Amino acid sequence: MSLLVVGSIALDTVKTPVEEHGDLLGGSASYAASAASYFSPVQLVGVVGSDFPQAEFDFWKSRKIDSAGVQRVEGKTFRWSGEYAWDLNTRETRSVALNVFENFQPELPKSYRQTDFALLANIAPALQSHVLKQMEKPRFVVADTMDLWIETTRAELDALLPHVDLLILNDSEAREMTKETSLIKAGRGIRKMGPRYVAIKKGEHGALLFGENEFFSCGAYPLEDIHDPTGAGDTFAGGMAGYLAGNVKKVTFTDLRKAMIYGSVLASFCVEAFSLERLRNLTMDEINERYETFKLMSQFEVPET
Ligand code: AMP
Repeated sequence: MSLLVVGSIALDTVKTPVEEHGDLLGGSASYAASAASYFSPVQLVGVVGSDFPQAEFDFWKSRKIDSAGVQRVEGKTFRWSGEYAWDLNTRETRSVALNVFENFQPELPKSYRQTDFALLANIAPALQSHVLKQMEKPRFVVADTMDLWIETTRAELDALLPHVDLLILNDSEAREMTKETSLIKAGRGIRKMGPRYVAIKKGEHGALLFGENEFFSCGAYPLEDIHDPTGAGDTFAGGMAGYLAGNVKKVTFTDLRKAMIYGSVLASFCVEAFSLERLRNLTMDEINERYETFKLMSQFEVPET
């Protein structure tokens, strides 16, 4: 089954304490679509300018990512630049140029409207709702968000939440949204705002998953070498939503637990190289090997006394 992915498509410049690279493929939809494409065909919705490389359209084609929903308009592609501190955790946005993204109105091709699974990757909540309204009857809707929308377009975000099955956000965003210090209270509080399930990402400390009477906590893959953390969250969301679209008819909490591990696995590969280079050439064997390691890491035995 296909997954519709809408979000930003960007050309990024990323600086870490040891390297700097420009004109990198980035944006929430680019990361999410690439991660999801390991599990299901993807229908991509976004906008790029006339400076966007044709080679990326060829890459999408090679990964079964349908780009019929990507508008190509006169002007420059959305550009974002960020710089990481030595811990590769703290990040400062150096510049943002919305360019063609400023007037983006996502329009779904007819062939996308009956798709069952959707991932509303990080963009303004009003645009996420605009996409959802064009879908006939999506069975499972995943949405991502960020602090910017919690702070500047809260009413639009609140209006979207009742139509979302799974909301994914990070720990500081969950605290900001609920004004709760405890992430457990925050997860439960966000569920009351509409989404049936809530996933809270805790960076290198893993992620939490909340259902009605269900709870799951998973760790992060212990990586020694991180080169570029950009897009890890979008990749996590893409891995989760892609796994569900490709493998599940009626989503249960057990499916969501597995999806969360696959999301974590894909995110762990993402940060091993700049941009989404590592997501271009992964193999299913590599993905499944890390999935098995995750399972082993979570097992423990209580010694007999
Ligand atoms: P993350 O590391 O998960 O925050 O994602 C970083 C990606 O988000 C980069 O590739 C940026 O191009 C993209 N991005 C940055 N700001 C925004 C924004 N306001 N809306 C949508 N995407 C953005």
